[in-house]
Amino acid sequence: MKGYLSACFHCNNTAKFAKTKIFELYGLLDLVEIIALNSNKSIVTRRILPLPPNNYQDKIQQMFNKRVKIKELLAQEPNNQATGFSEEVTVMGWVRTFRNNQFIALNDGSTNNNLQVVIELGKFDDEFLKRITTSAALKATGIIIPSMGKGQKLELKATDIEILGDSDAEKYPLQPKKHSLEFLREIAHLRFRTNTFGSVFRVRHALAYAVHKFFNDKGFVYMHTPVITGSDAEGAGELFKVTTLPFDNTPRNDDGSINFKEDFFGRATNLTVSGQLEGESGATAFGDIYTFGPTFRAENSNTARHLAEFWMIEPEMAFYDLEDNMNLAEEFIKYIIKYAMDNNREDMDFLAQRLAEEEKQLPQDKRSELGLIAKLEFVLNNNFERLTYTEAIDILRESNHNKKKKFQYPITGWGMDLQSEHERYLVEKHFKKPVILSNYPKEIKAFYMRQNDDGKTVAAMDILAPGIGEIVGGSQREERLDKLEQRMKEMNVPVEEMWWYLDTRRYGTVPHAGFGLGFERMVQFVTGMTNIRDVIAFPRTPKSAEF
Ligand code: ATP
Ligand code: MN
Repeated sequence: MKGYLSACFHCNNTAKFAKTKIFELYGLLDLVEIIALNSNKSIVTRRILPLPPNNYQDKIQQMFNKRVKIKELLAQEPNNQATGFSEEVTVMGWVRTFRNNQFIALNDGSTNNNLQVVIELGKFDDEFLKRITTSAALKATGIIIPSMGKGQKLELKATDIEILGDSDAEKYPLQPKKHSLEFLREIAHLRFRTNTFGSVFRVRHALAYAVHKFFNDKGFVYMHTPVITGSDAEGAGELFKVTTLPFDNTPRNDDGSINFKEDFFGRATNLTVSGQLEGESGATAFGDIYTFGPTFRAENSNTARHLAEFWMIEPEMAFYDLEDNMNLAEEFIKYIIKYAMDNNREDMDFLAQRLAEEEKQLPQDKRSELGLIAKLEFVLNNNFERLTYTEAIDILRESNHNKKKKFQYPITGWGMDLQSEHERYLVEKHFKKPVILSNYPKEIKAFYMRQNDDGKTVAAMDILAPGIGEIVGGSQREERLDKLEQRMKEMNVPVEEMWWYLDTRRYGTVPHAGFGLGFERMVQFVTGMTNIRDVIAFPRTPKSAEF
């Protein structure tokens, strides 16, 4: 090897500089690495090319993926020397529409905005033009010019078009008209190509990225807790079993029960309902950890807020009490909302408009008081309301809503579990902002929550969000071994099986706390989508797992 040059093509004038340098060194080198960066300086493409003498230019021409993303193109000023787009560019994407055998609206998923690709009349024959149908995939190369048409600043004057994938537009399920969200759920594999789902899933991505950024910047360790677990410690009950035992001739014990010793793991196992217990063992070693992974609940609740497979974020922090826990949760929620608002404004504005239009169909009293953006700004600029369960029960009991018997489940008094209608009354009607409820009766909460001195309540906290209801469930954990064991016995949690969990209390136990945030409910809150099935790529719900 004679030499090696790595060149960075930042899609602007540095590209010219890099090319000049390569030419200067040409002949001395036999390999060149080309790295194209986008405006965020993240790598768009990276290729190592051999560089035999005299055909550098040809090699560059042969590179397949030298495309520019449409979002990046549309952000440029036409004819600005500094952008570098006065030169030829290549875009690739799917045809949204094709008008007058001349104007292609091309979309590549980087933005809802299409690039207008203009075909010079007479340049391509009719047979070829017929193949440019809605949903066909193509590659277009040409020059970016200022657009004469309204609706876009610039357009691509195509010198070359290559069809990458033909599509029968007659059979393509998406027509250039509005489809119902229900219909689109039936074609989950294609709904990403609509504007609504384009925006939803780009925002979902941004929120996921913000989750990692938030915790990483605070020095948390991202921990991957297992998907297959042995314990049903949560007592959630609603478990999916994991087994390789045959359904017929299942091995049985003498008493007729299933012999799990014969099973793959030699014991009964299921899909996780929460990573918390494993997370606690991480927190009592690393200090601060978080999990962010798939979670499964076989609950047969066909609501707009429950999925059988969803993603949960569960931070767990040593040396935190209940109040520290609430502070972190509030800061976290605000951080990820702000991240999406700052970085995905175009998609957020689109979703706000979509929601406003959807709400026009509703009777006046069912419409939101604030638009999506105003709602999120309000959440960012105001403290969450904090009150105890006991105070909440008093408010609910005294409410006109309760006195007029408008709750499906009437307020029977202290000790009752709150239903979603009660939670939503508190956030939507009474406080009109997110609420953190704390110190619930111990009877309605899990065994691991720290027992308060009153002997009746535990250091739990739930965060309730307008339009969604419960979005976070958390607590300070019981770190006192004797109290924990006693509570486990009272609640029939198998103490022996949980030896590994209790070890965290045996060897240097510490006050600690954590919470679980349902990621899809958060995405619903930020995107304004009313059904949780519309914020996850392939929803799993009772009787539905087609794709
Ligand atoms: P809910 O009462 O709404 O069913 P939960 O009390 O069962 O919630 P937790 O066990 O506290 O919920 O789980 C933590 C978080 O996970 C919840 O606050 C919620 O955001 C989310 N979550 C729980 N169950 C589901 C589900 N089936 N689908 C989507 N998200 C869920
Ligand atoms: Mn539940």
